[in-house]
Amino acid sequence: MVVKDKELPHLRRCVELAAEALEAGDEPFGSVLVGADGTVLGEDHNRVASGDRTRHPEFELARWAAAHLTPGERAAATVYTSGEHCPMCAAAHAWVGLGRIVYVASSEQLTAWLGELGVPAAPVRPLPVQDVTPGVTVDGPVPELTEQVRELHVTFHRGRR
Ligand SMILES: [Zn+2]
Repeated sequence: MVVKDKELPHLRRCVELAAEALEAGDEPFGSVLVGADGTVLGEDHNRVASGDRTRHPEFELARWAAAHLTPGERAAATVYTSGEHCPMCAAAHAWVGLGRIVYVASSEQLTAWLGELGVPAAPVRPLPVQDVTPGVTVDGPVPELTEQVRELHVTFHRGRR
């Protein structure tokens, strides 16, 4: 499946949410959960500045979906996100039976950017989503928005020096 033009607003919203996270002193990641009919069901951004480094938006949306959606609704839903799910979030996504994932920037791209910025490696290996969840349809990266996401990460990490 390819990313359609009508999906770009959801991805732009993910970038906005990532910018909101950055403004709140958090790592710039944002995600939107969209139902089969195109309705936005939920959105969140990274909240790891709280000290809990599991507070990723994709994880929050997966747990929300498990509590509020039927299995069928979850399978038909799409998670849009500014950065490809990490292995923790990919696992949560698959365990609750959510559907497609569309990301702006890949983990491979993010890893390269952070390496250029001298950021130490994360404690979790940046595996592609499909290595964690082979049954999930995944689309990305989305070149139209990738540079915006890169700039948010550069701003975040330069600000921490
Ligand atoms: Zn994650």
